[in-house]
Amino acid sequence: MSTDSIQHYVFPPPPMPSLPVTGRDEVIPIRRIYCVGRNYAAHAVEMGSDPDREPPFFFAKPADAIVAGGGKIPYPPLTEDLQHEMELVVVLGSGGRDIPMEQAFDHVFGYAAGLDMTRRDLQAEAKKTGRPWDMGKGFDYSAPCSPVRPASEIGHPAEGAIWLKVNGATRQSGDLNQQIWKVEEAIAYLSRFVALAAGDLIFTGTPAGVGPVVRGDRLEGHIDRVGDISVLVE
Ligand code: MN
Repeated sequence: MSTDSIQHYVFPPPPMPSLPVTGRDEVIPIRRIYCVGRNYAAHAVEMGSDPDREPPFFFAKPADAIVAGGGKIPYPPLTEDLQHEMELVVVLGSGGRDIPMEQAFDHVFGYAAGLDMTRRDLQAEAKKTGRPWDMGKGFDYSAPCSPVRPASEIGHPAEGAIWLKVNGATRQSGDLNQQIWKVEEAIAYLSRFVALAAGDLIFTGTPAGVGPVVRGDRLEGHIDRVGDISVLVE
């Protein structure tokens, strides 16, 4: 495409999904959302898996599944088992392929607190039948996420409390140091499969205690130094 031509879209392009940055007017444009599966041993066990250190695996959500800052989310269709997964979210400020682990943090803009909302019944059916997880994981409003805190301010948290309460009762409680694959390892590993780029998010897996939510439930999540996320299921 020459630089002097004007691109005429058939219809207006969709709005760019974005996340606010704490304390700034700027927002993060979101390119892709990746998620790490079974990244805390106790959660792997509760999901019926061997907690041994198998290579990490990844799945994705559409970028517009993000619910910036939390708030109200609708109970999604075609499920009777919507579940919460409270997760540390890595926000990339740059990327590349085959990123060495020692350089992984150079590509991290910051961190956020996110929820990998899951239609567990659809995911379980997909597992059983060997089908893709997309409809269990990548549905509308499936990725509520807090504002982003820059690594220049908080560093790269490798430990610290991560918890989720539903209607005030603690459901998930863990520590970032329980992650099987550390942030730098997840970035390095994922970059072997795909070229990573600025605006990519990586949901880094959830501690034990996942469970169902129903309409009217209030979810409140927290990660030390990173932030808080609050969601009301409608
Ligand atoms: Mn998850």
